[in-house]
Amino acid sequence: MTIRYNYYKDGKKKALTMSYDDGRTFDLRLVQLFNLHGIRGTFHLNSGKFTNEKYLSAEDVRDKFTWHEISGHTLTHPRLDKVSDEELIYEVMEDRRNLEACCGYPVRGMSYPYGLYSENIINMLRPLGMKYSRTTKATDSFRMPEDFMAWHPTCHHDSPKLFDLLEKFKTTDYPMALFYVWGHSFEFDKNNNWERIERFCAEAGGDDDVWYATNIEIYDYYAALRSLEFTADRTVVYNPTATDVWISVDGSPVRIAAGATVDLKTA
Ligand SMILES: [Zn+2]
Repeated sequence: MTIRYNYYKDGKKKALTMSYDDGRTFDLRLVQLFNLHGIRGTFHLNSGKFTNEKYLSAEDVRDKFTWHEISGHTLTHPRLDKVSDEELIYEVMEDRRNLEACCGYPVRGMSYPYGLYSENIINMLRPLGMKYSRTTKATDSFRMPEDFMAWHPTCHHDSPKLFDLLEKFKTTDYPMALFYVWGHSFEFDKNNNWERIERFCAEAGGDDDVWYATNIEIYDYYAALRSLEFTADRTVVYNPTATDVWISVDGSPVRIAAGATVDLKTA
């Protein structure tokens, strides 16, 4: 019996996730576009700007993003390499408190303001409840991150490789391929290129092989997969997590439900 980790939710082979920073009001147009094409994403917000008219309000965050993930980006967008430890803790925890008051669930992820991070910053963030944080370093690949606290995206939406990567993604058989696109919605306005993301969503949406997920769903799914516990002969598996997962058994997807123990010889 050959067991591999080759599948996402519902036995899908690939996943696409979108990641947008800063929470300018252009996010309202972007989220409608995502909804239209069944694409899901994560919005990394500076809740200290909720009262600025150029930014999303607390009401926007509460009402317009229910199908997506609300995630941290610090309270006021400082350079995290320049603030004291106390300021870093305040920036992250105040942002969490404000965002959680809107979305009603624990905010467990973020992206780094200006893409700045270090080993020291990562070590500070873990005890603040952060499970992942996105950088701005493009990999041009579909690999899962080695460390979710330094989660490098596939590319920015303005990358000249964006549509080539999408074509590759459609035909790749790389196991658990992940296409991760990031950016800021204000860039579409600044660069007058909304048609670029409209085209991307139209071409990337509606694919039965693709799981359209938020950032934290990818993290949770992968963590659940890595938490599976097998008998010594690897024929019976127990899923101790709250997430259903799918594993490959002799090349076919088998669902291991949350909390279930499955005999793979009869599955
Ligand atoms: Zn930012």
